[in-house]
Amino acid sequence: MTEMSIDQFRLKAEPYYRPVGNEVDLFEAAYARRMPVMLKGPTGCGKSRFVEYMAFKLGRPLITVACNEDMTASDLVGRFLLDKDGTRWQDGPLTTAARIGAICYLDEVVEARQDTTVVIHPLTDYRRCLPLDKKQELLQAHEDFQLVISYNPGYQSLMKDLKPSTKQRFGALAFDYPEAELETEIVAAETGVDKEIAGKLVQIAHRARNLKGHGLDEGISTRLLVYAGQIIAEGVDPVLACKMTLVTPLTDDPDMQETLEAAVATYFFA
Ligand code: ADP
Repeated sequence: MTEMSIDQFRLKAEPYYRPVGNEVDLFEAAYARRMPVMLKGPTGCGKSRFVEYMAFKLGRPLITVACNEDMTASDLVGRFLLDKDGTRWQDGPLTTAARIGAICYLDEVVEARQDTTVVIHPLTDYRRCLPLDKKQELLQAHEDFQLVISYNPGYQSLMKDLKPSTKQRFGALAFDYPEAELETEIVAAETGVDKEIAGKLVQIAHRARNLKGHGLDEGISTRLLVYAGQIIAEGVDPVLACKMTLVTPLTDDPDMQETLEAAVATYFFA
């Protein structure tokens, strides 16, 4: 791959990331040893933003794959395509990352079927290789390559979980919604609303997060708070903005919507 095409995977500017603990140092240590890393935590709490920030900081290109249950091993590794000149091999994103020395981020890897997940095994131990069976090539990963996966323990079920043999190939960093003061700072920085409004949004989220397991599968994420701040910053009335971003997306249950709207009404008045 040419330098120019590698450049397409480089982050152009430093992503805004507010560290919440020692995760930056820990990730750097893991990267120094090219250790595969698992980012564990609920949706919308900053995992993807963190990996973008780390890729930029480490000067590595980043290739992100959103995993889903229909994904096959070929979608990751590559396949032969037919074109006018016959067949042509096309690398999948995992193969490209291993070739060019990118950080490969497999987002929500638990969504993928287990037979898909096992293709990462030889890349995650001392072998650091990827067998391209169909092409009869054994690709040795570039020395700068690193594999990162995200995993939301909340979605765990008997049908959907990572095999222990997969889990035990990663060092893991636990993520959660940042504590109130930090989350307020993040929401303000990401949206342009002032700290007072950001703080109120965070308080609403705290109330909703207490409802997790009592009618809500997941609490209000930092991502949704950022959405709320963005809509408010556009000049929309906060009650309406909160309904659009913190209530309606979260639940279909009218009673739960009412409960959430009541939480909003504690902080914002129509
Ligand atoms: P995840 O990958 O965990 O689902 P994201 O990384 O996409 O979540 O985070 C959602 C949004 O929350 C980001 O786009 C960003 O606006 C904000 N965010 C969360 N945590 C942080 C943080 N520590 N620093 C900066 N922004 C954050």
